[in-house]
Amino acid sequence: MNAKTTNNTVRHELEQRERSLLAPFAAFSADSRGRKLPEVECNYRMSYQHDRDRIIHSKTFRRLKYKTQVFLAPSGDHYRTRLTHTLEVAQIARTIAKALHLNEDLTEAIALGHDLGHTPFGHAGEAVLNRLHPGGFNHFQQSLRVVDILEKEGRGLNLSFEVRDGIIKHSKGKGEILSPAPEHTACTLEGRIVRLADIIAYVNHDLDDAIRAQTINAEQIPKGCRQILGDSHTRRINTMVTDIIDKSRKEPGSLKISTEVIEAMTELRSFLFANVYESPAVYGDFVKASRLLKEIYTYFQEHPQELKEKHYPGYLDNYSFTDNLRDFIASMTDRYAFSLYEKLFLPHPWNI
Ligand code: MG
Repeated sequence: MNAKTTNNTVRHELEQRERSLLAPFAAFSADSRGRKLPEVECNYRMSYQHDRDRIIHSKTFRRLKYKTQVFLAPSGDHYRTRLTHTLEVAQIARTIAKALHLNEDLTEAIALGHDLGHTPFGHAGEAVLNRLHPGGFNHFQQSLRVVDILEKEGRGLNLSFEVRDGIIKHSKGKGEILSPAPEHTACTLEGRIVRLADIIAYVNHDLDDAIRAQTINAEQIPKGCRQILGDSHTRRINTMVTDIIDKSRKEPGSLKISTEVIEAMTELRSFLFANVYESPAVYGDFVKASRLLKEIYTYFQEHPQELKEKHYPGYLDNYSFTDNLRDFIASMTDRYAFSLYEKLFLPHPWNI
């Protein structure tokens, strides 16, 4: 559906180069199923490269800096945020894609866009909106809504089909790691790599942050996980990434991981749920954050006119009030939510 232009462009040269360098089962930029709204493609960049740039230049991408990964608005400089998580996912995914001769540009675009729909306060915010918003809420559908509609004052980024497909299908919750249900299986190997890279990134960095936060100590990590994956952050990531590369290269065209590594990853993830995500220290803050967002949500239900008039410049008249309220809450950073709560509910010191 792309409005293709002349064949004498830098983009055309790059597309030819992709044909000679990438594996036959890679997603070739020139073969993309295209964009929803046909447009003249850039003369200098291939479609997925262009999509990656659009995501990086978006306002939603910049806000990831102030959104929680696990630990709420941490004052320590070394904790992950949703932005550094996203960069770690992109890095891991590109390493795997490159080693398998797949499309790095597509892989990177999906990775950079995958969490754009995340609420403030991580999964606490997601759970609140899911309870309150009619029709429910999840961050991966919201990520797609951001790139399709919300960015650029309601026009969206008009990304390629394969990037959008990878974004909507990246999520897994506590589900099966390697063989997701068909509705969560991306149509490209690049999209499936991002899903794996997301898990590899978060189990490793959440573990690292939890040790930093003294929520757990390294000796508590199950012995089997330490034996199979290694006893440091670097070794664990290295084991997972190299295992995927080595196993997948033996069966070209597929994405493989050895049984013992996938089992150790699954055990590590369960350990994190039990000892970090659902631990009283982390969960206690999640409860408070949930209450805060719920009060903000309820306030605007009671004062609907204020949302558009005073607080949400991105309000889109062609969507319902509740859709706008969901989009507003989901778009907030942690610190924006804190300051809005203060503005709405706390008295201000009289300073005259
Ligand atoms: Mg993620």
